[in-house]
This record gives sequence, C-alpha cells and structure tokens, in this order.
Amino acid sequence: MPTYREAYRRSIDEPEAFWAEQARRIHWQTPFERVLDRSKPPFARWFVGGKTNLCHNAVDRHLASRAQQDALVYVSTETGIERRYTYAELHAEVNRMAAVMRSLHVKKGDRVLIYLPMIPEALFAMLACARIGAIHSVVFGGFAAPNLAARIDDAEPALIVTADAGARAGKVIDYTPLVDEALSRAEYKVPQVLLIDRQLAPERLQASYLVAYEPLREQFFDAHVPCEWLESNEPSYVLYTSGTTGRPKGVQRDVGGYAVALAASMEHIFQGAPGDTMFTASDIGWVVGHSYIIYAPLIAGLTTVMYEGTPIRPDGGIWWRLVQQYKINLMFTAPTAIRVLKKQDPALMEKYDLSSLRTLFLAGEPLDEPTAHWIQSALKKPVIDNYWQTETGWPMIAIPRGIEELPSKLGSPGVPSMGFNLTLRNEATGDACAPGEKGVVTLAYPLPPGCMQTVWRDDQRFVDTYWKSVPNQMVYSTFDWGVQDEDGYVSILGRTDDVINVAGHRLGTREIEEALSAHPAVAEVAVVGIADSVKGQAAAAFVVLRDADRINAPGAREGMEAELCHAVDSQLGAIARPARVHFVTMLPKTRSGKLLRRAIAALAEGRDPGELPTIEDPGALMQVREALGN
Ligand code: AMP
Repeated sequence: MPTYREAYRRSIDEPEAFWAEQARRIHWQTPFERVLDRSKPPFARWFVGGKTNLCHNAVDRHLASRAQQDALVYVSTETGIERRYTYAELHAEVNRMAAVMRSLHVKKGDRVLIYLPMIPEALFAMLACARIGAIHSVVFGGFAAPNLAARIDDAEPALIVTADAGARAGKVIDYTPLVDEALSRAEYKVPQVLLIDRQLAPERLQASYLVAYEPLREQFFDAHVPCEWLESNEPSYVLYTSGTTGRPKGVQRDVGGYAVALAASMEHIFQGAPGDTMFTASDIGWVVGHSYIIYAPLIAGLTTVMYEGTPIRPDGGIWWRLVQQYKINLMFTAPTAIRVLKKQDPALMEKYDLSSLRTLFLAGEPLDEPTAHWIQSALKKPVIDNYWQTETGWPMIAIPRGIEELPSKLGSPGVPSMGFNLTLRNEATGDACAPGEKGVVTLAYPLPPGCMQTVWRDDQRFVDTYWKSVPNQMVYSTFDWGVQDEDGYVSILGRTDDVINVAGHRLGTREIEEALSAHPAVAEVAVVGIADSVKGQAAAAFVVLRDADRINAPGAREGMEAELCHAVDSQLGAIARPARVHFVTMLPKTRSGKLLRRAIAALAEGRDPGELPTIEDPGALMQVREALGN
C-alpha cells in the first residue's frame, strides 16, 4: 500500500494514471477513450467517450450479488413509518418511477425538479432520473415559494415531483400551496406536477395540473425501464447553492467522474465496504444528501439509512437507537446536530449498544473543539471532520484512513484528498502562503472527478465566479480562509465572502438582505453572520426604516421585527430567518458607499473591528454599538 503522501503525489502528478485505476470501481458500458480532456481550461472532462449510468451502478449492478440485502432503511419519526427495501425492491420501485416519468414524456436531458420531504420516493425519483438520463434538480423542502420559482425559471423542468406535505418536529408543512405559488410566480410554465400523496395534509390543493403518483405506480407496477447509457460528461444533476449575489448558482455535475470519485471516497475516506450500513443524517436537498445518503453508499453496495425527523424526537436517544437496531457502521452528520445532542441527557446515549458503529463523520461547517471533544469521549469512536462544498461533491480535505491511518489534529479536518491540488494563497498577491500563514483555500486546474463541471447554462459565470477571484492566478477559489501547517494539515478559518453558514447550511447574506428590502417599510439593510452556540452562525439584521418613528409606539418594535422575520420566511424559508433584528438610522459605509459588513459582524460578535477605512459618518458605527447594547 502506498502511503498517503505517495498516493496523493501520484494523484496530482499523474492524474490520468491515478484516475484510470479508480475508474475500475464502476461499470462502464462503453470504455472511455481518454481519461482527461484538459483542452479547455478551466473546464475538465473526465473519462471522455465512456458510457455509464449512475442508477445502474447504484442499483442494477448489485442485483447479481446482493439482491436480498437491504439497500435502503427508511425511518420517519414524524409519521412512525420504518421500512426496509432490498436492492431487488429498490430496483422495482425505481423502475416504476422511471416508467411513470416516461409516461409523462420526460426524456433524456430534460430537467426534473424534485421538491420532496425525506421520503423513499425522493430517492426513487432521483435514481429514476439517473436511469432515464433526465437531469434532477432537488430543491430543499424548507425553501419558500419565491426560492422555488427562481429555480424553476433557471432549470426549466419538464416535470416537478412533489408531495402533499412534509413534517418537522410534529408540524405538518403543506407543500402544494407552496408549489402552486411558485408556479404562478415563475415565468417558465411547468407542464406537469407529479404528486406523492402521503395523506398528511387533508386540505391539500386539488389543482388540475397535479398528477397523482399512486395510480400510475400501480399501472407500471411490473415495468422494466432500461438504463440510458450516458457519455461520462453528460450532466447528471443540477443543485443550486447560494453565493454572494441574490441569484443562486446551479452547480452542474457529470455522470462518470461523479460515480468514480464517490466510489473512491467510500474506500479512501469513509472505509465503507459492501454490506455495511451507513446513516447520513442530512437532507436530500443538500449535497451531502446527494452524495452520501444516495449515490456513494449505493454505488459501493452498502445499506443506506434515510431519516425523516429531528435528532431529539421522540427523545435525544433516537439516533443511537437506530445505530443499535440497524447495526449502523458509519454515521455522517453536521456539527450542529452534535451540539443539539450535547444538550441532551448523556444516559440516552449510554442506553444503546453502539458496538457496530466504527466512525462518525462530520462536515458542513467548522467543528469546534468543545463539540469534537465531547462527542469523541462520549462515543469513544473516531470522529472524522471533513471539509468540502456543494461544488466539489465530495470531501476535499479529510483524513484518508482508507489509505493511511494518519492521526487527526484538533481544529483541522485533515489533509487534501486525492486529486485536489490545494494551495493556500495570499488574497492580495495570489502567491502561495508559507506554512502557518493565513490565505484563501484554492485548487489548481484540473479539479478532480466529481467536482462541478460548470454553472448550469452559464459557463461564463463558472469562469468568472470561481476562477478569477485570486489575483494573478487562474485557480479555483473555495472562498474559504485557511491555514496549512508543516505536515500539510489545513484548518478552515471562515468564508472570504458574504456567505454565512447556519446549522451547516450555506446562506447568502445578500439574499436575506433582498428579502428584507422588499418590505415597504425598509429603506436599507445589512445582514451579517454572528456566532451561535448551537447553529455555528446565525443571521443578524441591521435595518434602517423609511420612517424611524414607526417603531416608537409600545409594541411597535416587536411588531415590526415579527413582520420582517415573516418577510424572510415567506421569501426564502425559515432557515434564513434572522436571529436578531436591530433598528438603526444609518449603516456604516465607506465614502464610496460600500457597506462595512466585516466591521458590523465584528461588533455584533463583540470583537474589535480592527483598522477601518474612512467611514462616511462615524455616528453610524456608534449606532450599531448602541443597538447591540455594547
Ligand atoms: P455547502 O456548499 O453548503 O456544503 O457549504 C460549504 C461551505 O461550508 C464551505 O465552503 C465552508 O465554508 C463550510 N464547511 C463545510 N465543511 C466544513 C468543515 N469541515 N470545516 C469548516 N467549514 C466547513
């Protein structure tokens, strides 16, 4: 076995040879002609000419050897449903869904927008798209109608798949009115909407465009839909993510590179073997859900656990109960969930037999030391932090224990993964940083397999956003600060842009500002991220009203605050709701009118804002301090 250093060097110096070997992990219907086409930087095309299919690799390929093994364990503590699906049953369900989609005229290359809660049909629908070569675009179920409308207009789907309702912490959330509102807001006219009826929302909308899934499923019960063999570089999915502008970016992924990268990551990083059980507690609306609830564990022949519910209902022992009951070997979640669990009675963990569990993986946001210490000593199992983004599709920094048992270092997710040519660079000069020196985490061309190919229908935006932000270097910017030590371990020090991370979810402060500015009472607004003991970060809004007197009457301030929070809920969804709204009469700006967000954020967190550019009106900074009560 090569050491980490040897394997990593080879993945960077001889990417063709390295990835050609990794490509053997998946089935190719037609072998590829070239491993890597680097003729058009910064675009990279992997496994050119090879034909494969994600659904075949995730499902059909296992039928010969593990048809009766569980592929999916579904648990909903919201509805009380627990169900297992073998690979054979999963295959049948995916075929039914694929046949239904085809009967609704969905073809290869069409987009299918999936707006579903955590139900098995979400997984069937994603795999059915992969099967027929349709491009899925999953929109997180917690997003509000305007958000959904923006994605409809960008993706122009031939079909939306939705459900009557989602459920969270015992509360039923009707989906169909949201879809209805999104459809009327969107300019693009979606021809049809497939409805999975969970019988949760009795007053669900009965619009004429809704097609019920269940009768069609019956009709196509014995259907067999062949896999569409796709050239490795054809798109498999588009997943939207927030950036610095109000307009979300459609991260587009390929087929072959993604399958190979995920299969490799399952061995190198997650050490998951066929027959193991993996529980990734995330949502299918996020990249972690795409990669590690669905594609990676299934491609590698594992059993995946899909969970609808919170970590603390019916009590804080629920996840540990699942570990015992389903003999879960690998678990993956975000630090926020662990901080939530830390507040629970420790006896809830001790009650269960956790001997099957080998490793807990955490990602999505910085892992703070107290949380890392607590979970490690409570579980007495390795806890592996890993760092990545929607754009990369799989961890770009981790401890590759499947290659070499490198030690973990507290405060660092680890070392660069195979193929990620990672360098910390000086923000002003673009020069590589010395060990210990803070810089922007960048990746050199080409990005390894599995990473985004481009921004959906906007190659220029891909180039301009990601490859032109570091001076004098054509490198990919992660927009994260980091520092690398002498041994190559990287620590992540927060975002370089105006993106905040709430409970492991990326939110653009600009999007929240736009939602608040849309309120007629608001003249100006600044949203910044502030430290939150559970969610990592929370949004804080500083609002200038058109008429400052309108909050003077008793109760008016609270009323206004509630109205503004409601505006964010209905524009973006409750996850984006500001934790605090402060009213000021002016915002600190430079002479040229640039908002001093970093200074506001520093004050909001009680930090020294450091050296500031000349402020137009120093009174504005005083106001921020006063509003914060410091
Ligand atoms: P998303 O694309 O929504 O998954 O968000 C990706 C962003 O989350 C990264 O750019 C980082 O800012 C942050 N992030 C993800 N994982 C980690 C981690 N392990 N440590 C620190 N920050 C992380």
